[in-house]
Amino acid sequence: MKNSLPVLVLKPGKEKSLLRRHPWIYSTAVGSISGNPQSGETVRVTDSKGRFLAWAAFSPLSAIRARCWTFEEEEVIDSHWIYENIGKAIKARNSLRSLTNAIRLVYGEADRLPGLIVDSYDGQLVTQFQSSGVEFWRNEICEALTQYTNCKGIFDRSDAATRAREGLPLRVENLYGSEPPEKIEIEENNVRYLVDVRVGHKTGFYIDQRDNRALAFSLAEKFKKIHGRGMRVLNCFCYTGGFSLALKKGGASEVISIDSSAEALNVAKQNAKLNGINEQEMSWVEANVFEELRKYRDQQEKFDLIVLDPPKFASSHHHVDKAARAYKDINLNALKLLEKDGQLLTFSCSGAIDPDLFQKIIAGAVFDAKAEVWMLKKLGAGIDHPLLMTLPEGEYLKGLHLLVR
Ligand code: SAH
Repeated sequence: MKNSLPVLVLKPGKEKSLLRRHPWIYSTAVGSISGNPQSGETVRVTDSKGRFLAWAAFSPLSAIRARCWTFEEEEVIDSHWIYENIGKAIKARNSLRSLTNAIRLVYGEADRLPGLIVDSYDGQLVTQFQSSGVEFWRNEICEALTQYTNCKGIFDRSDAATRAREGLPLRVENLYGSEPPEKIEIEENNVRYLVDVRVGHKTGFYIDQRDNRALAFSLAEKFKKIHGRGMRVLNCFCYTGGFSLALKKGGASEVISIDSSAEALNVAKQNAKLNGINEQEMSWVEANVFEELRKYRDQQEKFDLIVLDPPKFASSHHHVDKAARAYKDINLNALKLLEKDGQLLTFSCSGAIDPDLFQKIIAGAVFDAKAEVWMLKKLGAGIDHPLLMTLPEGEYLKGLHLLVR
């Protein structure tokens, strides 16, 4: 049976990354393909001499021509294999349930399911099928999810740009159960948020920032204990108020939040109300952060803590230089707005900017600001977005917790 599967043979010397268990096979590494595999079908991957390397999902149109399911020859990629790996992924997140009901249940390559995202918001699952391989096994994946989760429904948000690169059409539809409500209420570290899974960013919420919002909460709490007053904070690119509410609930006295999206700010205001916070206690500013930071600088505003969590400035390697200038600009201006002993939580979610480069960009901003700055901690995504050590490209979310001396 196995021997009848299509075979993808690599060019001589192109097996090195696979031998290190890096799961992507670029089209430029492919020598020949036999057996006419269809989109998403399993292929046997061998080196140029015919030695087995991996079982992979074939992706005829993508620059990543195949994504490895496994490097073990004896494994059989079938519905049972899919069930087993979905089950394992869900089980691995059990420890998070006491903190929140917004959890990433499946995270692509890290869960041996390249291109599959499954998030759960209070039992409503939201999926993204971002590769031909998981698209091929879509029905089996849905069945496995319903079996392992007791979910209320599965809503598919396969509308990310990555699908176009795979030659797959964008798709938004209900896959199982009743249609999701207009807004789903979630709770994370005792803060409540509304999530719109139909049109919200990603699958609706930035689940990946959970630990960093918890850090923001505890920094506000500690500050109040030590100084006997609440922090004055600025949250830039606030979206639906994730960090803003964590800071407020932690004890910040004044929270100014900036975002360019009126819709996001509207949800943020509803979120404040949901947490019993009076609308007047927080300021929501609809503006461009780049301009607003300059304005505050000219007005000589000062803050005890600033959060910078911008959108992905570099969508690919071609945009790295421009993105680096943008990151430097906002970080430089934010540093100038901090009080002595002020803290900066600064992030980049651009996969094309690796952690070293991000740190260098921020060091450049520190130098230009003529500030003396300590790096207290490196930050990243939560444990439901684990980094597969053989796929360093997966480290897209990077953050630094800085202290201005
Ligand atoms: N920190 C948030 C997520 C931020 S997402 C959380 O934890 O939930 C990035 C946000 O930046 C989006 O809401 C988007 O509307 C906003 N945005 C993008 N460009 C902007 C700009 N130039 N000025 C202000 N907001 C911007």
